Amino acid sequence: MATAMEFFKLLPKTNCKDCGHPTCLAFAMQLANGKASLEDCPHISEESRKTLNESSAPPMRTVRIGTGDRAAVMGGETVLYRHERRFVNPTVYAVTVSDGLSDEEIVSRVGYAASLRFERVGTVFRLDCISVRNDSGDAERFSAAASMAAGSWDSPLILESESPSAMSAALDAVKGRRPLICGAYPGNMDRMMELAKEHGCPLALRGGTLEETASMAARAKAAGIEDMVLDTGAVTLKQCLERQTAARRAAVRKKFRALGYPLMNRVGSGEYAVALASVSTMKYGSLVIFDDLKPYEALPLFTLRNNIYTDPQVPIQVKQGVYPIGSPDSHSPIMFTTNFSLTYFTVRADIEKSKIPVWLQVVNTEGLSVLTAYAAGKFDPEHVAEAFRESGILDKSDSAVIVPGLVARMSGKLEEIIGRRAVVGTNESKNIPKHLREFMSG
Ligand code: SF4
Repeated sequence: MATAMEFFKLLPKTNCKDCGHPTCLAFAMQLANGKASLEDCPHISEESRKTLNESSAPPMRTVRIGTGDRAAVMGGETVLYRHERRFVNPTVYAVTVSDGLSDEEIVSRVGYAASLRFERVGTVFRLDCISVRNDSGDAERFSAAASMAAGSWDSPLILESESPSAMSAALDAVKGRRPLICGAYPGNMDRMMELAKEHGCPLALRGGTLEETASMAARAKAAGIEDMVLDTGAVTLKQCLERQTAARRAAVRKKFRALGYPLMNRVGSGEYAVALASVSTMKYGSLVIFDDLKPYEALPLFTLRNNIYTDPQVPIQVKQGVYPIGSPDSHSPIMFTTNFSLTYFTVRADIEKSKIPVWLQVVNTEGLSVLTAYAAGKFDPEHVAEAFRESGILDKSDSAVIVPGLVARMSGKLEEIIGRRAVVGTNESKNIPKHLREFMSG
């Protein structure tokens, strides 16, 4: 990304304010921070626009496999370290479906891939893609397997074959799905590029070395291919770390466009595959293809991926509002907590354990936990009362309100504002079931 001064040099410098910014320099600074678009200045010359468009393009291209809402989005990364800004598109995981399997086995394998789905702290983790691999060496079988897989899988597809004729047959069988063509190597590149252009699909490239892969990418770009994924060919942890770090550094720090594409690797199956996938997830891999992935391997990997790709500057939040737990009625207890996701789901789980129906009010504290929000003045009696007023929770039950024990000191003031008895609850969420039972019996 160009600097503010580089942008400024090519702007008209008339300070006309038509872009909504007071000066061209202010606009240039917003461009450099990625907070403005060149389209906002109607006075840039075509030549400057072209130059600026190139310099304002992210150092790594965003590439999609598939179409619509379920497309797997990769790349678009702009930094080397997460704390510099954030990582954008989580590593895509794919499981292989071999065309050497019988028809029944293919359907069952796709069903298994779809079952790799977990819900954790309100977030759904799932497998992103299946990769149909041409192990049979037969174009017709590959095409039939691709068609069968596509029929029972509505998410993105990868087609793996080194044979252009098999790839062509499979692409015809899954028209409209925009699979990743995987892939091109120096010996078949011309034909694979033709197929990528003809079907409008992204293309995976693999050279013998990173340098060769980069020169293939430059050649493909010159031939009009925009969406590419680069296979690093790493098979050991060391190779994975070295190649992917070198490629990301070249793309982001040196603006080396030929490596500015999402990176992928195949990891096989078993413990070493999980270790490779972990390194790839942490170090710049955008796509990992497994031969096989067991549920007990998938969950920790999905969790790792979620951690790496969570924006550290944005706390995970739930929406302010009333969350009925169980089937609460007009006498059920009223509780409240903050909208920090982890706090909400912990409190919710402990209420559920009690088996006592509760009206739970979530108060918007901008993702802060109870004590931090209280200290920051975002979880005080006034805020809580306002959330109650907005949601009408006090009209749903005539029960007393249970105040989180950590902010017991707000109970008097809260009682005064809402005109309802406030009872101090527990300091620790795990004690909620016991406290609720005592509350109901008292
Ligand atoms: S619209 Fe263009 S010329 Fe006018 S102030 Fe903004 S950047 Fe400068």
